[in-house]
Amino acid sequence: MSDHPVLLITGGSRGIGASVARKAAQQGWRVLVNYLSNEAAAEDVVSAITSAGGEASAVRGDTSNEAGIAAIFDAVDSRYGRLDGLVNNAGVVDYTARVDEFSRERLDRMFAINVIGKIRCASEAVRRMSTRHGGKGGAIVNVSSIAAIHGSAGQYVDYAASKAAIDTFTLGLAREVAQEGIRVNAVRPGITDTDIHASGGLPDRAHELASAIPMGRPGTPDEIADCILYLLSERASYVTGSILNASGGR
Ligand code: NAP
Repeated sequence: MSDHPVLLITGGSRGIGASVARKAAQQGWRVLVNYLSNEAAAEDVVSAITSAGGEASAVRGDTSNEAGIAAIFDAVDSRYGRLDGLVNNAGVVDYTARVDEFSRERLDRMFAINVIGKIRCASEAVRRMSTRHGGKGGAIVNVSSIAAIHGSAGQYVDYAASKAAIDTFTLGLAREVAQEGIRVNAVRPGITDTDIHASGGLPDRAHELASAIPMGRPGTPDEIADCILYLLSERASYVTGSILNASGGR
C-alpha cells in the first residue's frame, strides 16, 4: 500500500474521528490516528483497520501545544514521508456555564484546542501539501459545529464562538490555497452520539435533545464521517470553501 494516500485525523481515537479513520481505511487511505491520552482507544481503531487489511498507526500528541503538534507531524514525515489529507477534528466542549461565569483558564483551553490547534495543524499540512512548497496538493476538512450558527446560549457560548472561528478560517484558507492544489472545506455536525457530551457533564445530552432536532434523533459518528469523506474525496474535486451542515435539519 506504499503508494496509497496518507490521511491524518486529529482526535481519531474516539467518536467522529474514529469513524472517519475506519471508513477512510476502507476507501484506501493509509491512516494516522492522533489521540491525546486514550492510547487503548487509538490502538483499537488501528487494530480494527489492520485486521481488515488496511494500513494505520497511532500517534499521541496534544494539538493545543507546539510539542504535541511537532510529535504528530514528525510521525507524518518519518512514517509516511507524505501527506494527502487532514481531518482537523480534535475538539472539546466544557461544562455548562453562562458567559458571566467563564474563567480565563476555560477560554484558554477551549481556544487552544478548538481554534489555535486546528489552525496550526492546517499550517503544517499546507507546508507539506501545497504545490507552492513542492507538494502534490491535498484536502483539508475542518470539523466545525452547527453551534456556530445557533450560539449555544446558556450552555457553552465559548464553544460555539470557537466553531464560528473555524468556519471563517475554512473560507479564508480555502481561497488562499485554491491555486496550490489544496481544497479546504468544513462539516458542521449537529448533535451526534459520542462521548463528548459526557466530557461536558451531560452523558445523555444527545438523546435528551432529540426532540429539538427536526429529524427527531441525534446523528451517528458514521453519518458525520460520510460527509467528511465525501469532502476529502475526488468526488468533491470542484468543492472548496464550503461548509456542509450535517445536523438533522437543526
Ligand atoms: P469525542 O468523542 O469527545 O472525541 C474527542 C477526540 O479528540 C478523542 O479522540 C480525543 O483523544 C481527541 N482530543 C481531544 N483533545 C485533544 C487534543 N488536545 N489533542 C489531540 N486530540 C484530542 O468527540 P467527538 O464528539 O467525536 O467530536 C469530534 C469533533 O466534532 C470535535 O471537533 C467536536 O467539537 C465536533 N462536534 C461534535 C459534535 C457532537 O455532538 N458529538 C457536534 C458538533 C461538532 P483521546 O481519546 O485521547 O481523549
